[in-house]
Parts: sequence; C-alpha cells; structure tokens
Amino acid sequence: MKICPKCKGNVADGLNVCTHCGAVITPQAAKPKKKDSTEVKRDNQAIAITSVIITLVGIFIMFEVSALVGMIIYLIAFALSFNELRKDPEFRPETIVPFAKKCLSKENFKGMGLMFLVVAILPLMAVIGSYRWIVTDTYREVESMYNDYY
Ligand SMILES: [Zn+2]
Repeated sequence: MKICPKCKGNVADGLNVCTHCGAVITPQAAKPKKKDSTEVKRDNQAIAITSVIITLVGIFIMFEVSALVGMIIYLIAFALSFNELRKDPEFRPETIVPFAKKCLSKENFKGMGLMFLVVAILPLMAVIGSYRWIVTDTYREVESMYNDYY
C-alpha cells in the first residue's frame, strides 16, 4: 500500500492513479540512495591512502624524533582504518581469515587491503615503538652519565 499525496487514501502498490480522488501518483521519490560500490571503493581508497601516509609519518617520527609521538601518530592511522574496516559485516573475529583474503585480493587491495595492513601491523609497531623508546632513553641516560663523568 502507498498513500495518495492528495487525499491521503490508501492506494494499491501497482496503481499510478488514486482510486479515491483520481490524482496521478508518481513513483515514490527515490529514497536517499545508498552509495554504490564504486563510490564506497573510492572512499575506501582515500582513507587507505591517508592511513598509509600517516603511518609512514609516524614511523619516521618514531625513529627521528620521539618513539612515543610516532606511536601516537600511527594510532591515528590505526583508528582511521579500523573504524572503516569495522563497517564491513565480515569484520568479525570468527570470519577474520576470509575477511583478510577479501581485503588482500587484487581488486580490494588499494583500499581495504592497505587499511587491513595498517591495522595488522599494530603489534609490530608496538614492538618497534617500545624498542625505540628504550634505546633512545637508555642512550640519553648513558650519554648523561658520560657527560657527568668527564
Ligand atoms: Zn487520492
């Protein structure tokens, strides 16, 4: 059933003319159209590329400036990608293997694949980050001890 815009009477779905008042009923205004898959893909790609750039900046800062700041920058990229991947219905612990395969397949790689990688390197980044943190701190300590001594 649809509702006649003029007399608010019920009209059978198949009819284009109101059976009560004779008004012509145009097919219902299209509902807000869902993004088509190419559009979603393009959004994915933009987010993926942004995440990769942020990750690279994070790694650079981790090594050159501060391990902690670099890690925080990487976590921004992580959150961005994670939030986007989470929207996929297959993004669940029990379907993570087929989900990974789907992401890393050739047609999805530039978008979901890159986002997947940004998320998946979290443990690696944590290890590198802690290592850099310890090394930098230890180095500074040793250096200051050296300076105190001489
Ligand atoms: Zn009507």
